[in-house]
Parts: sequence; C-alpha cells; structure tokens
Amino acid sequence: MKITTNIRAPRGNTLTCKGWTQEAAMRMLMNNLDPEVAENPDELIVYGGIGRAARNWESYKQIIASLKKLENDETLLIQSGKPVAVFRTHEHSPRVLIANSNLVPAWATWDHFYELEDRDLMMYGQMTAGSWIYIGAQGILQGTYLSFVEAGKKVFGTADLRGKFILTGGMGGMSGAQPLAGKMAGAVILVVEVDRTRIERKIKEGYCDYLVETVDEAIALVDKLRNQKEPASIGLVGNCADVNRELLNRGIIPDFVTDQTSAHDPINGYVPNGMTFEEALELRKTDVKTYERRAKETMAEHVRTMLAFQEAGAEVFDYGNNIRAYAKEMGVTNAFDFPGFVPAYIRPLFCEGKGPFRWAALSGDPEDIYKTDALAKEMFAEDEGLVNWIDMAQKMVKWQGLPARICWLGYGDRHRFALKVNEMVANGELSAPIVFGRDHLDSGSVASPNRETEGMLDGSDAVSDWPILNALVNTASGASWVSVHHGGGVGMGYSQHAGQVLVADGSELAAEKIARVLVSDPGMGVARHADAGYDIAVKTAKNKGVHIPMLKD
Ligand code: NAD
Repeated sequence: MKITTNIRAPRGNTLTCKGWTQEAAMRMLMNNLDPEVAENPDELIVYGGIGRAARNWESYKQIIASLKKLENDETLLIQSGKPVAVFRTHEHSPRVLIANSNLVPAWATWDHFYELEDRDLMMYGQMTAGSWIYIGAQGILQGTYLSFVEAGKKVFGTADLRGKFILTGGMGGMSGAQPLAGKMAGAVILVVEVDRTRIERKIKEGYCDYLVETVDEAIALVDKLRNQKEPASIGLVGNCADVNRELLNRGIIPDFVTDQTSAHDPINGYVPNGMTFEEALELRKTDVKTYERRAKETMAEHVRTMLAFQEAGAEVFDYGNNIRAYAKEMGVTNAFDFPGFVPAYIRPLFCEGKGPFRWAALSGDPEDIYKTDALAKEMFAEDEGLVNWIDMAQKMVKWQGLPARICWLGYGDRHRFALKVNEMVANGELSAPIVFGRDHLDSGSVASPNRETEGMLDGSDAVSDWPILNALVNTASGASWVSVHHGGGVGMGYSQHAGQVLVADGSELAAEKIARVLVSDPGMGVARHADAGYDIAVKTAKNKGVHIPMLKD
C-alpha cells in the first residue's frame, strides 16, 4: 500500500483525537511526513539517509487509527515504526512509547539491520524521524550556527566570520542547514552536494543562495564574495572526495573544513565517486556489496583530503556523521586526528544541560511562534546570543510544516519557559497547544563515542546506561511520548539515544508534567557530565540544585 496524497497535519484547535497528547503525537507524525518537511515522504523517509517515521504505510495508517481511538489513560507501543500493542496505563503516563532500530550489541551491524529490514521486521528511526519531533532544517540550524561561531572564536578570536571560507559537504535534511548557518555566522560557505535536486530544493527554501556546476565557478564566486566580505552560501554539484582533492591540488585551503554527507550509512546514504550520481543509484540497486565497498573507499579518500586540509592549516572537524570510523576501517589509520564537533565546541553547553530544545505550534499559525519568540526574548533578555538568534531566525528561516522554533535552552530555563507558554495556552493568548521536544543529540540523552560522547573526561564514551536512564526518568516523569533508539546519527553499532516530547495544552496536568519532565530531562545532562568530572557541570549542579548523591562539596 502506498499513500500518494500529500500528508499535512491538521491545523487549528479542534480535537480529532480523545486528548491533546494523542492529537499532538498524530499531528507531529504527520508533520514529519509533510512534503515541506520530509526528504522523501513517499518512502516515509524524513531525513538522515533512510530515517523513517513509520515502518511502512500499513503501520502508518494503523498508528493514526490507534491514536484517534487512544484513551487518556492508555499507552500505544511502537516497535521500529509499527504499532504493536495498546495497554491501560495512567493519565500521568506517556501516551506513546517508542523503541526503534534497537539490536542486541553483538548483532548491531548494518548487514544484520538490512537483513531484518528486508524481512519487514525493522526500520531505521534516526533520531527525530522515528520519534516524531523533526521540524525540518531549522532543527539543526542553531546548533550548526553555534558550532561555526565557536570554531571562529577558537581560531580567530571572533564570532564574526565575515571574509572567512567554510568548505563542507551534504545538503540533505539536516546537512541542508549548513549553508544558512554558515551565512548567518557571516562566512562564505561552499557546500558540495552530489544530488543537484537537493541544492535546488535548498535554494527554493531560502537556505542557499547560489548553485554552481564546476569547481572553477565555485572558486571564482568564493573569491569574489570573500573579498566583498559578503556572507553567502553556494551549492556545488559534485562529489566531496573529488572536489576536495581538486581544491587541494590547486592549493586552495579554506579556513574551516567539515562534512555532513550521510556517511553514517555506506549503503543508502553516502555516494561513491568515480561514477555519475545516476550510475551510483543504479549500482546501489544492482550490486549492493560493490556499492558499499566503493562508498567506503570514497569516504577514505574524503577523510584523507580533510586530513590534508588540516595539515595545511585549516580548522577541520567531523560533523557527526561517523565518516572517520569508516575511513579508519578502510586503512586511514590517523582518521581521528581531527576532532568531532562536540568535544571541539559543544560540550561546555551540554554541561549546563543546554541542547537543541524546540517547540512547534499545533495551531499551524506562525503568530503563535512569534508570541513565544517574544516571551523567550523577554525572559532571557540578558542572553545576547539567544536574543540575536531569535531575531535572525525570524528574518531568515522559512517555515517548513507546522511553525516551530529551535532554541538551545538549558537546565532551569526549559521548564520556566514552558510553564509560561502553558499559561499562554490556558488564557487563550496562543490559539492552540504547543509541543516541546528536542533532538536526541542532547546533553543527557545519548551515548555515541564518535560524536556526542567522544573523548569524555573519564573515558565513559561508550556507556549507554545514561540514555536508558534518560528514557526511564522521562517516562516516570510523564512525558507525552518517549523513545529509545539505536544507530542514529552515526549508524548501526555506534550509538544509543533517547527522546521525549511534551505537550503544553494549558491544563494543570500539563503544568505538573512540565515541572517534572523539563527539569529531570536536562538535569540528566548536568548529572551525566558532572559524573564524568566536568567542572562546568559540577558548578551547574551545585548552583542550580541538581541533586547528585555522590557529588563532593
Ligand atoms: P540526508 O541523507 O538527508 O543528506 C545527506 C546528503 O549528502 C544527501 O543530499 C546526499 O546526496 C549527500 N551526499 C552523500 N554522499 C555524498 C558525497 N560523497 N559527496 C557529496 N554529497 C554527498 O542526511 P542528513 O539528514 O542531511 O544528515 C547528514 C549526516 O549528518 C548524517 O550522517 C546524519 O546522521 C548527520 N547528522 C549530524 C548532526 C549533527 O548535529 N552534527 C545532526 C543530524 C544529522
């Protein structure tokens, strides 16, 4: 069965389910598959290679039907995108519990996953695809912007990247935030993307300024814009491994080099070089083993070029797609010589429980988001970065699907903000409930030794008790839906992570849940980093009263 009609979440404040939590889960699932939001909705693919919202169309239909019937004291269970049971629980419990792509560790490989997927027993949930809180490219935009700004501060001592040149790869679901984030930071950013249609889409969405076909054109445009100190984004149709090598051969060394192609998946993500894009797609269908080998060989070459840029003085970092691990597997023994973006720039934020918090307006009315923007600017007026961010986002981010806002708030701020928003729903200032959620790439919700937990101070990179505790405490605290996934961001075998979403429908029950969930969820981030010995986390815990039994005075 294939659903060909365009999916679009209902708007407005009329309930079609038996409660706002079920309604929110339904609307956010539909929103994940809105053609404005999803990369390939016909295949149920939301972003990140083959990150899906539901296992297949039968499952999708049944999830929607189950949510419509679900009582306010029942919980729907989702196993890898398929609705498998409904149980009577409690009105304080989550309405949906989701487990996606989890495999027993010794079986946790792409080969085994694809075997199961072929037999329709599993799906890949990525992070926010299978947990129904993807909000389009804005979801990663602020994080990408923050990473570029922090990299700028580190190398040049300034957050203003005017006249600086960033080279990167990938313009898909999440990677498509790079061109706009680089431009917001003031830089000229060149994004190499093998699939022309992806660049065209980002230009249409206002995320990218120019499309060029050749390295010559790209260089000329980069030079011109840098000289004029004009912030701009350019998409170059090509394969990263080839373009990077060509730039090196010509002696062109960018200020910053990174990559966000879907290298986490060497079969259905990364595209090998030495053939056209169309030939690669054909090879993927006809000879998957050769495709995988060629993709990994190309990743090895790609990483060699990144190492050469580093050697030549560029600031090089991995952008969370696990490309270094595949390059190492293919013999690039020093692939990890350049760091991941979390230890390089983001971990201090995680220590304060900060991460990609976001909210979406179920009304569909942008005015609701503008009102929450104004509230955030008023409540956090002393945070100049946050205020600037909201101003820039209002100007530069086009809505995709339900209007939404990303804002990296930390421990102590998330629940205060959400409680105010809940009041605004209650008194009618906002026209319908708001959902609060976050990426699984958050401070206390993920174990991913090549990404979020790379190089932890105490060596606990691979300990995945933390995301499991995170999901358990969010369930115990009454989040609206909670998810536990494996393999997101970096691929099978490399990560375990958890998500939660919470609906502010203006009720007292919602306020109670907000006061619990939005304290314990970022609190897990503070506790996880304090336990690993990070000073900022220890100070945050002490100053803000996170109760950690074994914290020394
Ligand atoms: P996507 O599949 O939607 O897009 C990836 C893009 O890379 C595609 O458009 C594809 O055509 C292009 N591509 C693949 N191989 C290429 C090559 N050799 N040369 C040029 N272009 C190539 O995936 P996405 O959602 O954009 O995610 C990209 C990667 O970033 C994934 O690995 C994902 O897990 C990771 N990710 C990182 C973060 C983070 O915060 N750092 C967050 C989310 C996702």
